[in-house]
Amino acid sequence: MPPDTVMQTVNLTDSPDRTFTNRITEESGQNLSLCYQCGNCTASCPYSFGFDIPVSQIMRLLQTGQKEPVLTSSSIWLCASCTSCTTRCPNNIDVAKVMDVLRHEARRQGFAKERRVKAFFDSFLDSVRRHGRVFEMGLMVNYIRKTGRFWTDLELGPKMLPKGKLAFKPHQIQGKEAIARIFERFEKEGF
Ligand code: SF4
Ligand code: SF4
Repeated sequence: MPPDTVMQTVNLTDSPDRTFTNRITEESGQNLSLCYQCGNCTASCPYSFGFDIPVSQIMRLLQTGQKEPVLTSSSIWLCASCTSCTTRCPNNIDVAKVMDVLRHEARRQGFAKERRVKAFFDSFLDSVRRHGRVFEMGLMVNYIRKTGRFWTDLELGPKMLPKGKLAFKPHQIQGKEAIARIFERFEKEGF
């Protein structure tokens, strides 16, 4: 586990909502009960430093039907779907897929912090359209401009900089034009 990842105590005593556990199991196609809390997913997650609930604890909360803490967590929105957790799970649980299903469920049930979530995804897509891949520093500036969350979210910056996660200039990639064409096609055909 990265040295700056702090495991917090999670409250498992609220009334369990088995319907929630069953729905996430069914939609993700994953057997959540196989998780035995080895912590590999949290240890391999590159975004753990920003999560309010580490991904292994999300799995434990899911097993015990704790709907609200899971669906109101910031972690499900900070997850970048990188699939490191899935690769490292000894029980072959597709943890990244579970996180994806949780984002859909949070939106469906009205738990998503919509304005911020939309602002984040719009900023992400703007960045990919312009640079062919995400330019993290530009994304952050765009997100702060859209939401006005300067002091609260900018505090993540100093944590990310030493890890080399924030470049000051966009990365140059091949095939940038092909990506721009995908966006054009999407806008024209509206699917
Ligand atoms: S998919 Fe999400 S939860 Fe899993 S390692 Fe990547 S960022 Fe972390
Ligand atoms: S790696 Fe798999 S078994 Fe280990 S805590 Fe994460 S989900 Fe559970």
